Amino acid sequence: MLSFENTAVAFSNKSNKELKMAQKLFWLVKNRSLVKTGSFFINLVNTINLPLAWALKKNVFQHFCGGETLEECKPTISRLGQLNIKTILDYAAEGAGDEKAFDDAKDRIISTIELAKKEPNIGFAVFKFTGIARFELLEKISAQSILSNPELEEFERVKNRADEICQKGFENSVPVMIDAEESWIQYAIDDLVEDLIHTYNKAKPIVYQTIQLYRIDKLYYLKKLFTKYKENKCIPGFKLVRGAYMEKERKRAEKLEYSSPIYPEKSGTDSAFNEALKFCINNIEYLSVCIGSHNEESNLEALHAINATNIEKDHERIHFSQLMGMSDHISNNLASHGYNVSKYVPYGPLKLAMPYLIRRAQENTSVAGQTNRELFLINKELKRRSNQN
Ligand SMILES: Cc1cc2nc3c(=O)[nH]c(=O)nc-3n(C[C@H](O)[C@H](O)[C@H](O)COP(=O)(O)OP(=O)(O)OC[C@H]3O[C@@H](n4cnc5c(N)ncnc54)[C@H](O)[C@@H]3O)c2cc1C
Repeated sequence: MLSFENTAVAFSNKSNKELKMAQKLFWLVKNRSLVKTGSFFINLVNTINLPLAWALKKNVFQHFCGGETLEECKPTISRLGQLNIKTILDYAAEGAGDEKAFDDAKDRIISTIELAKKEPNIGFAVFKFTGIARFELLEKISAQSILSNPELEEFERVKNRADEICQKGFENSVPVMIDAEESWIQYAIDDLVEDLIHTYNKAKPIVYQTIQLYRIDKLYYLKKLFTKYKENKCIPGFKLVRGAYMEKERKRAEKLEYSSPIYPEKSGTDSAFNEALKFCINNIEYLSVCIGSHNEESNLEALHAINATNIEKDHERIHFSQLMGMSDHISNNLASHGYNVSKYVPYGPLKLAMPYLIRRAQENTSVAGQTNRELFLINKELKRRSNQN
């Protein structure tokens, strides 16, 4: 019987020292004001080289990231592999800036595909469009503004980078997930991803499109896309997530006086997410799905849907995924029961990974229940271990 309460399985790969470090980290994250000032310090570290960078690397970075280089990630990959969990190497450079940085990010993503070809413990490659394209360009395209000639050329380079990555994934049979981002650039991203799916997903699910179910329009979009891909004889990959930019979305909508695209209540997001996962599992013959969530109920809902449709729990088209440093109790318990599980392992230079780390910390404060849950389970496991001695 699968239980997310089984902390012995949940933390089997963590030493007491690591658990105590995680306990401190989540305790700090629980404190909203500390995270706010923490973000401020992190931003400072970003601009001037403070020795604080070392301390950050030892604690926050080590908890949420694999390392600064692919080489540094190898121990994490094999540790997860021993638990039957695949790694998704996520080069965490967001909004890095110029054309050279975008080309560099593209090359690094391609290196992860090359590594995945040799390393069976890597399940997917992943990238974000803002790692290979200028935010303002994606924003302009999403707003359907007219592009200048240099911008049209710039856009061609973006398309070529994305195409090179997906083609590499296609040639090496390594599926590629494409993250979803802010709604005001997501229109451009969705169009680009749809084209990539039409090119590369004829025989198998190579490109995965991310659907953010906190957006009111996305459940309908998922169903519409499904019909379109099916008619065009493509096998889409869908990564289902709730969405990471809620506060930013709401603030912008308020400032620019348009109606927020996000459900006004969490229950709206939750039911859209659960309906989307059931829809995907019920149509697994025609698609592949990755359930990207730390929500216990949604993960259990997926298990019920798998049971109800009588498909194997390790069906090659059903995947579960969580982020490194979060919800090991879900990942490890699912993996120990034979489900396909992977962990997003961000890596990259400390400075470039900062926006990612800030988002994780802020997300944990905005979802107070989740941080409390992590702390409760860590405390429970530490107590269990001390009773054993
Ligand atoms: C493997 C993986 C990949 C991911 N990739 C992406 C990605 O590509 N793009 C992206 O945007 N995010 C991504 N995320 C983050 C994800 O979108 C969520 O922010 C995060 O997982 C928390 O949601 P949850 O399902 O784990 O569960 P929960 O903790 O139950 O839900 C929290 C989420 O619910 C929503 N929510 C909270 N309060 C409200 C409210 N009052 N009203 C409406 N909605 C509310 C928000 O989306 C919030 O993040 C990814 C997460 C994982 C695990």
